[in-house]
Amino acid sequence: EAALDDAFQTLLSWADAVRDIGIRANADTPADAQTARNFEAEGIGLCRTEHMFFDGDRVDLMREMIFAETPEGLGAVLERLLPLQRADFKDLFRIMQGLPVCIRLFDAPLHEFLPVGKSGMRELAEVLDVPLAQITARVDDLSEYNPMLGQRGVRLGISVPEIYDMQARAIFEATAAASETSGAIVPEIMIPLVSAMREVELVQSRIDAVAAAVRTETGVDFEYKLGVMVETPRAALRAEDIAEHAAFLSFGTNDLTQMTYGLSRDDAGKFMSDYVKQQVYEEDPFHTLDLEGVGELLKLGAERGRRGRPDVTLSICGEHGGDTNAIAFCRAQGFDYVSCSPFRVPVARLSAAQLALKDKIGQ
Ligand code: PEP
Ligand code: MG
Repeated sequence: EAALDDAFQTLLSWADAVRDIGIRANADTPADAQTARNFEAEGIGLCRTEHMFFDGDRVDLMREMIFAETPEGLGAVLERLLPLQRADFKDLFRIMQGLPVCIRLFDAPLHEFLPVGKSGMRELAEVLDVPLAQITARVDDLSEYNPMLGQRGVRLGISVPEIYDMQARAIFEATAAASETSGAIVPEIMIPLVSAMREVELVQSRIDAVAAAVRTETGVDFEYKLGVMVETPRAALRAEDIAEHAAFLSFGTNDLTQMTYGLSRDDAGKFMSDYVKQQVYEEDPFHTLDLEGVGELLKLGAERGRRGRPDVTLSICGEHGGDTNAIAFCRAQGFDYVSCSPFRVPVARLSAAQLALKDKIGQ
């Protein structure tokens, strides 16, 4: 088995020598990041920070944040969240040893954090130590008909800007601390679910202010990169002016597929096999990147993005990121890297190499 391992490592090192597109991993936890490193991912292309809050007491903290009704209440929760997030990011920077780490600001569809049913509400009332009526009223307030098209991502970030301020502070404090011990780190901060340039401007000005404050407080003169997830059709269409404010654009093909087809990513499974059987769609577009539709938006977004900023970094980070057809497509468009689940990294490295070799020998 050891020999097989050695042979596989050798094969992968040959693959790395010929491939011409970067391979990063999607990683939300230190364990994911370690797996990504073990498979020699060249960085983290997507850290979904809301996923750091699905477990244990942490989900309650997230709920407390969402349920805060006064600025003081929100401030108190954010003060408890800050050290947790700072430690999370320090861990990621330590494990990734100076490789790029792209941290996506919270993109928490509210329904994923709202209590479910009467018993869920009762439980939350106990945890937060507030009357049940207060919880039910707030759930009524926050419930949305279409949460995936609701106050998600940057929309929550703009209506409650203190949340992204807290995350930016945690990232910068971790950056300053890591830079002192292990050399300069340039964190990448990514804004989710953007559909208008103004959203980027608003977030950018607040994050710049947080960066300036942390530089003064710590005396560490770090840099950072701000980028945008292109996952609404409008963001692809407006990529030119969005890229003027973004060092990088990363295509989130899960939401982009959902919104291009107008097809719920959480419900499509109910009829998809029937649709594929009847040849309405050749494949499930959530499994295989749809080059004719979603791919066109990637192409157009990349072209327009480059018009706004010729050296904009381009990547893909949806579930499709590790698939050979998606890698081939992104490579043909001159993308800088793909980001996929950590376990797909070795196969993605091989696929990318195979594509480069095919080009070289003209097949
Ligand atoms: C995406 O939409 O493609 C994406 C990577 O983000 P998420 O899956 O977290 O919505
Ligand atoms: Mg998304």
